[in-house]
Amino acid sequence: MKIKEAVFICSNTDYKRCPRGDKPEYAFIGRSNVGKSSLINMLVGNKKLAKISSKPGKTQLINHFLIDNLWYLVDLPGYGWAKVSKTERVKWEKMVRDYLLRRENLQCVFVLIDTRIDPQAIDINFINWLGEKGIPLVLVFTKIDKVKTNKVQQSVSKFKKQLLTYWEEMPEYFLSSAVNKAGQNEILGFIANINDN
Ligand code: GDP
Repeated sequence: MKIKEAVFICSNTDYKRCPRGDKPEYAFIGRSNVGKSSLINMLVGNKKLAKISSKPGKTQLINHFLIDNLWYLVDLPGYGWAKVSKTERVKWEKMVRDYLLRRENLQCVFVLIDTRIDPQAIDINFINWLGEKGIPLVLVFTKIDKVKTNKVQQSVSKFKKQLLTYWEEMPEYFLSSAVNKAGQNEILGFIANINDN
């Protein structure tokens, strides 16, 4: 599956002002610098749709893109900025939690994990919170082009080991690279499959 058209719709700080939830919606989130903007741009085949490396301290927004007039792709503000104040963090938490808990057309959250980095508590905690709230999620291990092939599986295994302390089974996951488009067909196929059912 290829995306023909991706249109920026709006940015919000409040889920109540998001577009009418009349289409299936998929949200992307992860630690800052995980490669979220690059992955979104790779998926939609537009190098500029999501801004790459937005700076910390900038307003953090819920960004809606309409894809092929069929579904919404949502770029959620990343977490884990080193220099963000407690007030900013609390604001982020409220905005993102409200969105995740209340957005009824949300089909799945894609939680991005940097393949090069050892499992981080902030990611595990966030995934556990989604699990506790019953919010469907899948994982995407990013930047696999930067890691030797055998190390990719090692990273996944390390992460799996951490998660299985809390989870009965590993959530479904994808391997991706914005450089060589690894994962594009798999992720878009996964979304198409849900949209078709
Ligand atoms: P974001 O903060 O999560 O939106 O991350 P960005 O998409 O801005 O990416 C952070 C940095 O990682 C940038 O320098 C990107 O060029 C780089 N990057 C992102 N994805 C990949 C990838 O798949 N492969 C490689 N080699 N670099 C990537």
